[in-house]
Amino acid sequence: KIRTRIAPSPTGFLHLGTARTALYSWAYARHYGGEFILRIEDTDVARSTQDSVDQILAAMKWLGLDYDEGPIYQMQRLDRYNAVIEQMIAAGTAYRCYCTPQELEAMKAGQESRGEKRRYDGTWRPEPGKTLPPVPAGLKPVVRFKNPLDGDVTWNDLVKGPITINNREIDDLIIVRPDGIPTYNFCVVVDDWDMNISHVFRGDEHVNNTPWQINIFNALGAPLPLFGHVPVILGDDGQKLSKRRGAVSVTAYEEGGYLPEAMLNYLSRLGWSHGDDELFSREQLVQWFDGEHLSKSPAQWDPAKLSWVNASYMKLASDERLAHLVLPHLAKLGIEAQADGLLEQRVALFKDRCATLVELADWLKSYFQPVEATEADLAQHVTEAILPAVAALADKLESLTAWDKAAVQGAIKEVITAQGIKMPQLAIPVRVLVFGRAQTPSLDAVLALFEQKVVVERLRGV
Ligand code: GLU
Repeated sequence: KIRTRIAPSPTGFLHLGTARTALYSWAYARHYGGEFILRIEDTDVARSTQDSVDQILAAMKWLGLDYDEGPIYQMQRLDRYNAVIEQMIAAGTAYRCYCTPQELEAMKAGQESRGEKRRYDGTWRPEPGKTLPPVPAGLKPVVRFKNPLDGDVTWNDLVKGPITINNREIDDLIIVRPDGIPTYNFCVVVDDWDMNISHVFRGDEHVNNTPWQINIFNALGAPLPLFGHVPVILGDDGQKLSKRRGAVSVTAYEEGGYLPEAMLNYLSRLGWSHGDDELFSREQLVQWFDGEHLSKSPAQWDPAKLSWVNASYMKLASDERLAHLVLPHLAKLGIEAQADGLLEQRVALFKDRCATLVELADWLKSYFQPVEATEADLAQHVTEAILPAVAALADKLESLTAWDKAAVQGAIKEVITAQGIKMPQLAIPVRVLVFGRAQTPSLDAVLALFEQKVVVERLRGV
């Protein structure tokens, strides 16, 4: 049975890279009718927070990455880890090490001065016939994994292909810290084993951990999962995507007015492809995502492309849905709106020219707030010469008994005919005065979605 997982550490927001790995793990499980598990790796007690857990869960939900089991918290599994540690110590595959930090420092300094690789010298490593030093009183030991001294660790990475590391390259890893809390590389193995994980997709930054983990799996007699290490995402400067280089949390994109389906679509294409397909649904992704066509080279974060993808989904989304989704963005502008039918009509008028919900809210705000035309627009378009025509239009519109697009259009036509002017001569100043912008969709449609009295007032400048 295919079982995948995502195992974020709750030390911050859900990073885009983690979201992409979650997406791949999720899609892979769904493709093969398997299961997807959410595990919270919270053993870094000092840095883990509930707030971060909440953010991660919310971001997973927003992206629609539903999990079959979890969230499972590592800190609730300490008894299990301790039991495994005791078994390993009894079996001789792990041992207590009483070296003090000072001793370790001295050991490493010595190695460095001799130009040797920094590694644990094996003082406390039990070997047949070896006498260990006397256990010092009052010292909290760490537990180390007794890594094989030679031989190769080999696996066929789902993304990178075959990888081989010689055991001489790897140290006896600390698997329990002095405070008694087991470390990532150990917990991850016990968990992936206990949770019957078949496929581990994770970021490239973990590829150096995998040989240790494989050795621990083997020491436990546990079956190995398959591993796939997904390349990093690079910013447009070619550096790893990071906080300093702009938004890197899923939440930031939700707040930036992106649609979850656009985000999912865009993220999936960062490091994976299906022919030339750029826009596809969640169902298509699941249908296509079979673990092939994962790229070995780093993906490039491309804001312009994300913007295009999002704009495409804005066009596809229903007016009803967009009206609901735009409410929090209007609220940020201080506007308490409701999806009351009228908002849907306004959304329909503007959604095609917006890349994000934030842009949509920015267009819609003129319906709710006094307009703020720029000085330049006012000076250029609202000239003395046009004021009589504007005043005539205000009177005409005020006298209308029906208020809809056709009626508004009739009024505008009457005024330009009576004044002997051309449509743009009147339409542009009216846009600036009522809407705050010189360019909008068709003027009659824009005005008809205002309250009649508001249009008249804005034209009269009250
Ligand atoms: N907690 C690790 C991380 O967030 C999980 C790595 C893994 O998937 O094994 O990077």
